[in-house]
Amino acid sequence: MSTQGKDKWRVATSLLTLRNQINSLYPARKKASDGTIGDSRHCGGSGTSDHCARDLGGSVKVVTAMDITHDPASGCDAGRIVSALVASRDERIKYIIWNKRILSSEVSAWTWRSYNGSNPHSKHFHLSVVPKMSLFDSTAPWQLSPASTSTTISRPVPSGNRYKVIARSGLRLREGAGTQFDAIGRLSPGQVVVVTATEGDWYEIDAEGDGFRDGFCYGAFLVQVS
Ligand SMILES: [Zn+2]
Repeated sequence: MSTQGKDKWRVATSLLTLRNQINSLYPARKKASDGTIGDSRHCGGSGTSDHCARDLGGSVKVVTAMDITHDPASGCDAGRIVSALVASRDERIKYIIWNKRILSSEVSAWTWRSYNGSNPHSKHFHLSVVPKMSLFDSTAPWQLSPASTSTTISRPVPSGNRYKVIARSGLRLREGAGTQFDAIGRLSPGQVVVVTATEGDWYEIDAEGDGFRDGFCYGAFLVQVS
């Protein structure tokens, strides 16, 4: 329990459970963009963010949102964790913001929509939990990496998704769907790859055709081949 000004507050137990799980899975992870409670600038007056401590029926105000730093070098890949959370359909999830997109369990339930807030959320992901005590204080473990491993990496590749690289100098392969992600390789001009999924203008690539994803490429320089 902590204090901010005169008000006592605490973080929802389910979010502390999540952070403990992530900390033990990725002990070396960076925490620069981690966060729980908002500052008074965000929470003064009409502040309605879930990062603001609110009276939810207990003796102490509760913060029902958490930010976790994206640090793929340590294994703490926000994209992977977020996919696993979404796949789990955990009833505690209110909404998630990650990499310019938002997914809510209430509004357009479980469908990603574009997010145009001033912070693109590409350095961390945001999770808000449902403001109902039996849910936000649940200590049940969250479904994290195992689900994402089985659903994302080993998913069967649909046939007819072969594409050829038509960029004369080849095409950068990036860690995520956007230029803000690090380049992790390069596809050669003329190379034929398998597209396993799309995220807007970006294609998720299986470069070897072995069912494992290798990264993301900008889709404008890929044409489908039969
Ligand atoms: Zn946040």
